[in-house]
Order: sequence, then C-alpha cells, then structure tokens
Amino acid sequence: MRQDSSAGDGIRRARRLQISFEFFPPGTPKLERSLWHALERLAPLGPDFVSVTYGALGATRTRTHEIVSAIRHRTALNPAAHLTCVGASRTEIEGILRGYWDTGIRHIVALRGDPPEGQGAFVPHPEGYRSAAELVTGIRACADFEISVATHPEGHPESPGLKADLDNLKRKEEAGATRAITQYFFDPAVYLRFRDQAHQAGVHLSITPGILPVTDFAQLNRISARCGARVPPWLARLFEGLDNDPETGKLVGAQVTAELCQSLKREGVDAFHFYTLNRPELTRAICRFLGVVESIPSIRQPAAPTLRV
Ligand SMILES: Cc1cc2nc3c(=O)[nH]c(=O)nc-3n(C[C@H](O)[C@H](O)[C@H](O)COP(=O)(O)OP(=O)(O)OC[C@H]3O[C@@H](n4cnc5c(N)ncnc54)[C@H](O)[C@@H]3O)c2cc1C
Repeated sequence: MRQDSSAGDGIRRARRLQISFEFFPPGTPKLERSLWHALERLAPLGPDFVSVTYGALGATRTRTHEIVSAIRHRTALNPAAHLTCVGASRTEIEGILRGYWDTGIRHIVALRGDPPEGQGAFVPHPEGYRSAAELVTGIRACADFEISVATHPEGHPESPGLKADLDNLKRKEEAGATRAITQYFFDPAVYLRFRDQAHQAGVHLSITPGILPVTDFAQLNRISARCGARVPPWLARLFEGLDNDPETGKLVGAQVTAELCQSLKREGVDAFHFYTLNRPELTRAICRFLGVVESIPSIRQPAAPTLRV
C-alpha cells in the first residue's frame, strides 16, 4: 500500500523542513502595511526565522533596525538582521551589534554588501571590515550571535572562479558562521553541484538554497543584472509576452518555483530561504507544494506603524 502521498505523511515530512523568509525594510507607510500583511500571512507557516535586509544608505539602515526590533517585540517570530561592512567603522558596527543584542536579536546575516548604486566598486571604510569573513570575526568577538552568511553558487561577480568562492566560504565558516544562504538560482543542478563541491572542499556549514519566487520577469532581469545571478533562456521564454499579464506571470512563476523546490527536496534539501520581496502569496503557495501548511496562529498586525514620516 502506498502511503507516501497521504496528507498526514506530507505534514510529518513537512515538519522536518526548515523555512525562512526574507523581507526588505519598507520606505513608506503603505509599504509598511504591505510588509506587516506579508508577515501576518507567512507567520502561520512557522518559519525558523525571518530576516530583514540592510541597505547601503542611512535611512534604509535605520528602517532595518526599527523593523527587526518591531518584529522581535510585537510577534513570536525569530527575526534576523542583515548587516553589511559598507560605510561603517568597526566601532560603529559594534555599536549596532550591541543595540541588537540588547533588543533581544540573536541572529545576524553578515554580508560584505554592495556600494550604493552608481558608486562603482566596493571600497572598505578606512576603519571598517573588508569582507564578510572579517565581519563574521568581529560579530563573534562581540557576542554569541547565530551568524548566517551569503554564498554564490554561480560565482560572485567579482570572484575569479569557483575555488576563490569556496575558499571564501571556508573563511566565513572558520570565522564562525553557522549557516550559508545562497544567491537565488533556477536550475537545481547549479545548487546541488555547488553544495557537493563545497563539501569536497571541506565546508561543513549547512548551505540553504535561496529561493526567489518570480512574479515579475522585468524586475527579475533588473535584480539579476546587479547580483550576477543567471536567468536561463528557458525561463525567459516562459515569461515571453507576459509583461502586461501579471496574473498569468504569477501562475508561471508558481509552477517554476514549485518544480525547483520539489527537485531540491527530492535530493534531500531540507531547508529553504525565500526571498519574498514582501509579497506573501507565491511563497505561501510554494510552501504548500512542499507540504508546509499553516500550523501556528498568525501574528496580529501592529496597532501603531513604526515608520516616522
Ligand atoms: C542571502 C543574501 C542576502 C543578502 N543581503 C544583503 C543585504 O541585506 N544588503 C546588501 O547590501 N547586500 C545583500 N546581499 C548581497 C551581498 O552583499 C553582495 O552579494 C556582495 O557583493 C557580496 O557579499 P558577500 O557577503 O558574499 O561578500 P564576501 O563574502 O566578502 O565576498 C565578496 C567578494 O570578495 C571576495 N573575497 C572576500 N574575501 C577575500 C579575500 N580574503 N581574498 C580574496 N577575495 C576575497 C569573494 O570571493 C567575493 O568575490 C545579500 C546576498 C545574499 C546571497
């Protein structure tokens, strides 16, 4: 008798899957309402953590601190704060870390960061950290945070090759990182090959695939041009002619992302990090495809907005 497709078994297997959701800090009260709506819709899926990205400029940085603290205080979710080396001295970063620790934040996503758009290559602050690995060392010296780092299965745009990427990941692990999250990708083989190569190179960190549920192909092209992720021609063909048809685009995106996640799950992947872009629907649908269903009460949206304008 086949029992592996029963709902009960699906839920049992789903409980072992770890999921996490990434959000960006909103810049307007309307966007803040969308963020809280997304958190409200995704919280019942029981994510292991939710992370909030960190911008290259002052105002968005303050927003990260405010939103992470609000999530910590107003919900039962476990928030992680992204932090970069860009434009800050080691002393300033230590101040930020102490602030997070005092607010009860225990998880940092440590990144080198990219410079603000139009400012060319990354130039370290004269008294700052030069790389994510150095930042991880600084965080470890400051407090006992859980530390996630980024990794790039298709190669970081500035990297001379795979070996440099793997050496860099190893440096981050040795500095004290506890998890790596990948840049997004669309071909499961890209991730599986990189995971195997990392293990062969002596990396023992868990490498969580970063999943971008695509809804808007034009937006995907813009983001990918900046971060170096490859958009395969077959994906471009699937979205051809859908620029003004977002509803069909969403259905196509759901199918593509669900197939990607299911392929990874079949290969034993048991943790997924979703780049939600603050939009909950597609991520919820994909989680359902993976057998992850709502199992805990939702958060209540905060009565008072955090954004001061
Ligand atoms: C999951 C995830 C979340 C992200 N969140 C944010 C965010 O919130 N805010 C943001 O601004 N950006 C974010 N980014 C983007 C990230 O900041 C950029 O990709 C950035 O260009 C590299 O960051 P990194 O942490 O991988 O850098 P690093 O690990 O420092 O690597 C950067 C480059 O330098 C090279 N390198 C590092 N150390 C050495 C060394 N000792 N010798 C030689 N080469 C070296 C590496 O090989 C690589 O090519 C995120 C990326 C991912 C995947």
